[in-house]
Amino acid sequence: MEYKLLFKDYSKALGKGKLLGLKCSDCNNITVPPKMTCQECGGTNLEIVEVTKKGKIVTFTVVSVAPEGRENEAPYITALVELDQGPWIMGNIANVEPSETTMDIIGKEVKLSFRNFPGDRYAPGNQARPTFTLV
Ligand SMILES: [Zn+2]
Repeated sequence: MEYKLLFKDYSKALGKGKLLGLKCSDCNNITVPPKMTCQECGGTNLEIVEVTKKGKIVTFTVVSVAPEGRENEAPYITALVELDQGPWIMGNIANVEPSETTMDIIGKEVKLSFRNFPGDRYAPGNQARPTFTLV
């Protein structure tokens, strides 16, 4: 079995503003970020598709103790977002003040963009990661 879409290629496309996913020809589910098989049915008949960068916040948390190397970014909000086409992905919310966030942001519409994170001791340099802004 092989990866149809490598994580590094997914990340590179994201850095150019394109969100790529894998559409399953067996069940039509879209998997994002890329995995070896369809996350719904485990099928391997996958094709690379561009995914719409809109969705709704499913849940979130405010991170006040950041991982090693990112200490000066805290506090920040990390959310789980359900994209309009179905897949759930995680990313930080960029335009909401963490100290003023309430449960009211759950269900709100967001637009996906990206941010480049420099490398650290756990990941090689400059990787694009999903970031959301409230619409
Ligand atoms: Zn499937």
